[in-house]
Amino acid sequence: MSAVENVVRKLRELEDLLVQCSRCGTCQAVCPLYKKDRQEHSVARGKMFLIEAIYEGRLEKAEEVFAHLDYCLLCGRCKRECPSGVKTDEIFLKAKAILRQVKKMPAWQKLVLKVAMGKPELLAALAPFFHMGLKVGAKKNAEGLFKPRHFLRSVAGDLADKHVVNIAPEALTKKYGGLNQAKNERMRVIFYPGCATALIYTNWGEAIIETLLHYGISVHVPEANKCCGIPSATMGELEIYKGQVNDNFDWFDSILDADTVITSCPTCEYGLADMGQTATGRSSTKRFVDIIVFLEEVLGDELPTGIPLEGSSTLHVPCHYDHSKDAVLKNFIRKHFDTDYQDLANQNCCGFGGTFNLKNYPHSKEVGRSKGEEIRDRGFKNLFTPCPGCAMQLSDSCAGADAGVAATHPVVELYRHLKQ
Ligand code: SF4
Ligand code: SF4
Repeated sequence: MSAVENVVRKLRELEDLLVQCSRCGTCQAVCPLYKKDRQEHSVARGKMFLIEAIYEGRLEKAEEVFAHLDYCLLCGRCKRECPSGVKTDEIFLKAKAILRQVKKMPAWQKLVLKVAMGKPELLAALAPFFHMGLKVGAKKNAEGLFKPRHFLRSVAGDLADKHVVNIAPEALTKKYGGLNQAKNERMRVIFYPGCATALIYTNWGEAIIETLLHYGISVHVPEANKCCGIPSATMGELEIYKGQVNDNFDWFDSILDADTVITSCPTCEYGLADMGQTATGRSSTKRFVDIIVFLEEVLGDELPTGIPLEGSSTLHVPCHYDHSKDAVLKNFIRKHFDTDYQDLANQNCCGFGGTFNLKNYPHSKEVGRSKGEEIRDRGFKNLFTPCPGCAMQLSDSCAGADAGVAATHPVVELYRHLKQ
């Protein structure tokens, strides 16, 4: 059987998932990319139509469909709003993995991916060099973001205008890897930082761990953070992704004195708890919960209230956040901070989409642009989000709009107060 015939056969196996789509078009109204470019192949309905066209023999160039499937933020808004319950995320990830047989990943990309996924200790060891490299190759602005220096702009291509967040001089796991035992211990938890909190927003990780310790909660932290695997899945490397999920589940299972995995990245939580269990068919023995939800559920009224913040505040709710807990997130800011909190009118995706941001930066930037402009026009001084990926993108959008603010996690402000 040829590679193309094999692809056609395997795509047909997705038919049971695809036939759920009634072609109603509801997903058009919520897709951030369709809103921007009005192309049917940008939206879930159009992408699924292309998959069907291959196995029904109406379309021969299977590898071209990969590009259309890859042009997706994996924000899940189409799945969330679909009246027929179509599992669009599962369909896209499985279809991309099948199409990888005819649309091979360049060898250098596969090598980078394998190192990023399989060598977390190496990534952590390289953090000081990434940190130094950024200082040499990029210039810092007032919000602490870096932009490529002039001599690098020609090689940076589409990314020349991107403002990037500093890479920490030391990985979070170097200081906190292992069991961090609280004085007067009342319980133990696992904290899974994810790559961005382990290497970039290490101050978020520090704030989360130290806050938990402050309240007598001991924290298990990985010795080296193993990626949740979602970047592999979005690149069509489903087997690598499953390996990452299984390795992380093995580590969680090895910790017998904690039954809760606290996360600081909704996409990691989605990649492990939601899609991870679907892709591997393995049920986790642990409960996954976002740090804000955990703090409210477990500590609630023990946490300080009325922490003064200068100026008004707003919040970006990440697409992958457990939306049954959106109110908990907003109330956390209202309850614990003394600030004029206001919702954003723009509740769209920030446009980050993980690897989408690097592969399609001009489109990613365009999706996020209006959000940065609203934050500037309404003069917010504090911008919160509980997702490091969204924080990177929002900070870039705000810098592009001259909003004078960078995104942070609410726990960073809480911990700043506890330290005083
Ligand atoms: S909203 Fe759901 S059923 Fe309607 S077109 Fe989109 S994927 Fe299909
Ligand atoms: S996941 Fe998001 S970007 Fe992708 S098709 Fe669905 S709504 Fe559009």
